Amino acid sequence: MRFFSNIRRIIGTWAAYHQKTTLLILTVFALYSYFHFGLEVGSWMLTAWRIFAIALLLLLLFSPLEPKDTYLVETKETPQPEIADKPENEKDVDIIRELSEEYYLKTKRDTVKDYKLFLSKILSIVKRTFAAHSAVIYLRDQGTSLLRQMCIVSDEEHVMEDKQYMQDEYIFKEIFERNSSFLSNEAEEIKSLLPYYPESVNILSLLAAPVYINDEISGVLIVDGLEYNTFSGDDIHFIETYGGIIAETIVNYNNLLEFENSTRLFSFFYEVSRGLNSNLKFEEILDLLLSVMQNIIHYDRLTISAYETGSDQAKIIRIVGQVDDFPEGTVFPLDEGLTGWIIRKRKPILIYDLEKDDHFIPRYTSKEKINYNLRSFLGAPISYHDICFGAVTVENYKPDSYQEHHKKLLVMLANNFGVALERSHALQELEQHATTDGLTKLHNYRMFMQRIYEEIERAVRYNSNFTLLMLDIDHFKRVNDQYGHLAGDKILTQIAASIKNNTRNVDFACRYGGEEFAVILVETGLEKALLTAERIRKNIEHLDSNFKGNTIHVTVSIGAVEFPNSSKDVESLILEADKALYRAKSEGRNRIVAYKEKSETII
Ligand code: GH3
Ligand code: MG
Ligand code: MG
Repeated sequence: MRFFSNIRRIIGTWAAYHQKTTLLILTVFALYSYFHFGLEVGSWMLTAWRIFAIALLLLLLFSPLEPKDTYLVETKETPQPEIADKPENEKDVDIIRELSEEYYLKTKRDTVKDYKLFLSKILSIVKRTFAAHSAVIYLRDQGTSLLRQMCIVSDEEHVMEDKQYMQDEYIFKEIFERNSSFLSNEAEEIKSLLPYYPESVNILSLLAAPVYINDEISGVLIVDGLEYNTFSGDDIHFIETYGGIIAETIVNYNNLLEFENSTRLFSFFYEVSRGLNSNLKFEEILDLLLSVMQNIIHYDRLTISAYETGSDQAKIIRIVGQVDDFPEGTVFPLDEGLTGWIIRKRKPILIYDLEKDDHFIPRYTSKEKINYNLRSFLGAPISYHDICFGAVTVENYKPDSYQEHHKKLLVMLANNFGVALERSHALQELEQHATTDGLTKLHNYRMFMQRIYEEIERAVRYNSNFTLLMLDIDHFKRVNDQYGHLAGDKILTQIAASIKNNTRNVDFACRYGGEEFAVILVETGLEKALLTAERIRKNIEHLDSNFKGNTIHVTVSIGAVEFPNSSKDVESLILEADKALYRAKSEGRNRIVAYKEKSETII
């Protein structure tokens, strides 16, 4: 079979260059020979020739067009890897070729997503070549001593997947200390070296090789077997070759990954700026931060804390991952733990291993239980110029999970969120300006008009009622004239506060104009509303307003109207309230008049 497959390859490679012409010539030649000799002579030589001609025809029909691309890629566009040029023996030619075809096709296609799938394919080939029970690849996290299982291909049903180990434990210790491959046939030793099997599995052979990237051990490739001497000394060379191929793949993949990461970052910044334009709210910005973080930094717990401006404390507003004694909503002081420090100093913190520190540093408060479960800690302030909004922290079960480049990345992300949040604050302020009266902090006329329409609509739809009160300060001009405008302003604020204090949160109070106020008492009939109005009137009557040594007293007149009544629209309702107010004034002020369909009632 190898003979045929070699012929197939030679013809295939040649045919790939000359394609259609080749196919045509060979087919014509084969058919001609078959019919020409086949019809006249009948010796064993011609029978052999016939068979050859048919075989040739079949080969041509089925082989050359399919591998065309891959052969061209190998021979023309990309230099073949060394191992493909100089195969160690016949047996491995196919496998190495298969591998390199896959490899170059993959790099051409820049597929990052199926990287693991590709690794698993390589591992399948490795496993097959060595007749191994399992083939596994572990890779070191850049700049750390942590090895992550990237892929395992095994005949064993129960193997541990996706685990992480330190480079000074298990088989990794052997590889890193020796800085070379490792071969063993000692069952006991193997048991203590392989971390991915359950106790019951009896492995008798083990072969592992370092995977070098930039002359540094960046991973370990392992094969094992159920029989003694599954691997020989010669196999060391092969496994190292596979290690080299995997290393190349990884470098290539990392380049793609870096590219993808920067694209992701870019798209994130784009999203933030776009989000700002479309008025992202605080919560939405947080969600965006979370989703970006999930993609960019690996963590076992992420916390976002918000600083309460002007206070000496902050609050945990989001936790993703492990939650222990500090759930969302926990308030903590700024001067006790790491997170508080970040907010107070507006500086990032990177701790490689919390356990290795001389003494335990709490994350939030000194009352916190010692927790070495999460070992790596990285945090950055979310701030903008002088304003600090809070902090974002990430933690990892494994020590040394975060390095300087992670810190830089987190700081950059947090800064951008600072900008986003600052803009969203500015936006909120802007919105507030548009809806609130600057002096009294009550709603303004614009909001009143919007609200009264809504209330009428609601009352009609749900068959409910409400009462509108119109208030006007009595002889306010005199106050201004006598004590000055500032005194008048002070009284306006006090009256506003009094109105707010004597109504419910669901009610709506606004500064209607100069020294006029309007109140909507939601779902309140006239009778009850008059009680509230009376409370307000009395309260204002008894207000002692001190201004520059003078005690000023003012009173208000109030007009009240209930909805529904005969009026069907906003304008006539306001007019009726005004009419009642006018009556209150003309009747002597400091009183309440309720508008009734035919006549107003004076209280
Ligand atoms: P009446 O009892 O009939 O309502 O008498 P009045 O003096 O209150 O009469 P009017 O409603 O005509 O006068 C409103 C006064 O309120 C005029 C203005 O000086 C004063 N005023 C309006 N807005 C403000 C303000 O923002 N601050 C101050 N200090 N005074 C204001
Ligand atoms: Mg007035
Ligand atoms: Mg007035």
